[in-house]
Amino acid sequence: MHLSVVVPCYNEEESIPLLVDRLVQAIEPWADRAEIILVDDGSSDETWATMEAAHKQHPVVRGIRLSANRGHQVALTAGLEAATGARIFMLDADLQDPPEILPDMMMMMDRGYDVVYGRRAERQGETLFKKATAYLFYRFLNTLSDVDIPKDTGDFRLVSRRSLDAVLKMPERARFIRGMFAWAGFHQIGLEYVREARVAGETKYPFKAMLRFATDALTGFSTKPLKIATRLAFVSLLVTVLMAVYVFGSLILFNTVAGWASVLLAISFFSAIQLLTLGILGEYVGRLYMESKQRPLYFLSQETGHPSAHAVDFT
Ligand code: UDP
Ligand code: MG
Repeated sequence: MHLSVVVPCYNEEESIPLLVDRLVQAIEPWADRAEIILVDDGSSDETWATMEAAHKQHPVVRGIRLSANRGHQVALTAGLEAATGARIFMLDADLQDPPEILPDMMMMMDRGYDVVYGRRAERQGETLFKKATAYLFYRFLNTLSDVDIPKDTGDFRLVSRRSLDAVLKMPERARFIRGMFAWAGFHQIGLEYVREARVAGETKYPFKAMLRFATDALTGFSTKPLKIATRLAFVSLLVTVLMAVYVFGSLILFNTVAGWASVLLAISFFSAIQLLTLGILGEYVGRLYMESKQRPLYFLSQETGHPSAHAVDFT
């Protein structure tokens, strides 16, 4: 197999027919040696039926269905594990990532690159809040992380078999796939594109999910937040010294000592610092616990098309 296309889908019944049409066109030059793998991430709408219909219409489409909703990054992982191609193209189901860029990405790969990632030159149809948080997130992540994770890129990319195999060797449960590819190394290059608005449905990343995704990325690629505790200790030491100067100063100069207000302030300041460092510690400990359980990332419940190498028989 030359080319595998992997698409994670969660409640995307409306997008899938459009997606399949555009994808089938985009892979035309390689159609006889290609497969399109749609992963149903435990959707509650008609996503699976839509995938089966797509397979009937275009045999090049395969569907795999997870036993429950496991999240974007795990669904993508399931598709990547099922992919058999020498080159693997991944994109979102909502057509925010244009499939038409594939020939350009293939050309870059012909020149010897292992990873050709899409860089968002512009985002259309997204809220100012989403744009601003995404902008800040990628910059904040880069200052904290030891790995150089390309800014303003998603999982939209074409990767070579050897870089995918490297990523699939990483067993972590909290997956931040774009970071894992960056960490794996090999020759990488970005290709700019305009991120359009969703064709149908709504975002599956509400604020809570965005926050979880961001902490997964931060804790997965940096231990610097843990060092913040040490720095905060110095800050609180400094504040204590300043307060001591103030208290003794007013005692000597005015023969009075500040009352309960300053005591209250000091107590809340230091407990805030302690709770913050405890919280950061908790994020890491919680992830350690989840990793240590060694649970499988997902189970497949159904497949259409060729049986994948990772088929699990639950009968
Ligand atoms: N997705 C998924 N499982 C989830 C949430 C999202 O497979 O639990 C898929 C979704 O169907 C889409 C992609 O992940 O193909 C990106 O999600 P979305 O477009 O909602 O994110 P956004 O573009 O708003 O950041
Ligand atoms: Mg989207």
